[in-house]
Amino acid sequence: MKRRTLGGLALAGLPGLASAKEAPRMDALAEDFIEQLWQVDTETALAVGRFDFAARLTPPSAEQRERRRRLLKAWLPRFESLAPATLTPLQRMDREILLAQIRSDLWQLDELREWAWNPAAHNPASALDKILHTDWAPMHERVNALQQRARQLPAYYQAARQSLADVTREHTALALQQLPGVLSVLEEGESAAQQVGQGAITQPIWNAARAAVSGYEAHLMRLLPTARRSFRLRAALYEAKFRHDIQSARSARETYELALQRREAVLAGMAREADVLWPQLFASEPPPQDRFARIGRVIDQLSSRHVARERFVDEIRAQIPQLEAWVREKDLITLDPDKPLVVRETPEYGRGVAGAGIEAPGPYRPQDATYYNVTPLDDALTPEQAESALREYNHWILQILNIHEAIPGHYTQLIYANRATSRVKALFGNGAMVEGWAVYAERMMVESGYGDSPEMRLMYGKWHLRSVTNTVLDYSVHVLGMKQPEALDLLQRQAFQTEQEAREKWRRVQLTAVQLTSYFSGYSELIALREQLQARPGFALKAFHEQFLSYGSAPVRLIAAEMLGR
Ligand code: ZN
Ligand code: ZN
Repeated sequence: MKRRTLGGLALAGLPGLASAKEAPRMDALAEDFIEQLWQVDTETALAVGRFDFAARLTPPSAEQRERRRRLLKAWLPRFESLAPATLTPLQRMDREILLAQIRSDLWQLDELREWAWNPAAHNPASALDKILHTDWAPMHERVNALQQRARQLPAYYQAARQSLADVTREHTALALQQLPGVLSVLEEGESAAQQVGQGAITQPIWNAARAAVSGYEAHLMRLLPTARRSFRLRAALYEAKFRHDIQSARSARETYELALQRREAVLAGMAREADVLWPQLFASEPPPQDRFARIGRVIDQLSSRHVARERFVDEIRAQIPQLEAWVREKDLITLDPDKPLVVRETPEYGRGVAGAGIEAPGPYRPQDATYYNVTPLDDALTPEQAESALREYNHWILQILNIHEAIPGHYTQLIYANRATSRVKALFGNGAMVEGWAVYAERMMVESGYGDSPEMRLMYGKWHLRSVTNTVLDYSVHVLGMKQPEALDLLQRQAFQTEQEAREKWRRVQLTAVQLTSYFSGYSELIALREQLQARPGFALKAFHEQFLSYGSAPVRLIAAEMLGR
């Protein structure tokens, strides 16, 4: 347990504290706050790798929310009263990040109140899954923690039912869809218990846990017919959520308007590339007048160039050293040769959607490897589904995907963040900065001449347009009331996405808000910062990248303030 000597002190208003002594104090306070936060939020603690909380489930009850509220309100003035001038630049950012995190948390508890309208917010499955499938302790200890959690599930679901009031139909349907997943992880837990010889004694626990899941299901079925709350956040809540989540210097409205402008510029560039490619692909056939039709035909034709189905994972593995070599040769950013990325097939339990992504250990598990998980296009897919995925991740897009996820995108950023960052940034890292860097990395690689060709520029345009369109879509749906047919047209005809991709995106925009804007929002602020610094004498791209990443996953707004010397 940590010492709590500072915990009871009211720092606000005490004279003499705004001295150089505050620099070490800031770090101790942050650690102390984080430890206290885990006590009231064991679910997040576990998610970031604190397995010492594995056996303790936090029920979504009013009492728990009150404990959390009291903690946040006690800590807010402590961080507010630390004078920024006495802190190092990295600590100043930590302080701002913690203040933003606390205010955001309070806003979510009392204004957004998702716990009352989103039944899918109450889902114990991923924690159970993590306890079972992470190698954090011998199997009998993991099973022990699982059983203790399973024992608390009836109380957990009881609290969830009491919390729900005015639900949305979409989130209720999602929660119902996810319940079989909860049952299957309970089943896995039960058979793991049998394997370590505890099956018989714990039978009643598993039965009661299953009954609790069924009870929640019956409750949601009763709520569904009268669910009336709209999934759309509308302007006031949306702007506030954007402010809290993205931490941008811009408003949501401004970001949306910027995305509309960017969309137009990207489409104009794509039309130029399509015009260059048309005669090579279609000889004398006259191109359609409509630019969407023209671009779409060219993309469709080019998409047939892709790797063989069974080569998908190997091809990604082979591309990583090629990207590293390019980044070194063009002197874009220093890469750490001691930290090679491990490309692997996504473990079975983590497969759901086709795709690829970086899986990094949390800040409490630095000893664990970082993986680039790639879901193979195996027998789980029909030949048609596999072909559709291969056309989507065609010769050019697959390279852009690897730039985004790995080199010099997410993986490179993560290595810099791990080297430089405090625990605060590792835990409460800014999603818009992280995604913004990866989206920026794609553009920066294309600018450096990587894959230089009209085909690459066109495919890059399609990929980049997806980030831009995500912002347009999210704002249009949540604030401007865009309906499904318009949304599908925006995605399919005007952004060249497949019908399946468009339908998945429509589903995601109903179930989340603001997250879809993080890619373009972070990217656009990063580009704006680069443009400002490029205007100064002595600008060097490599030094810019390395300095930008040296602050860790802080909001771009805060990094910009430090780099511009404001
Ligand atoms: Zn094909
Ligand atoms: Zn990403």
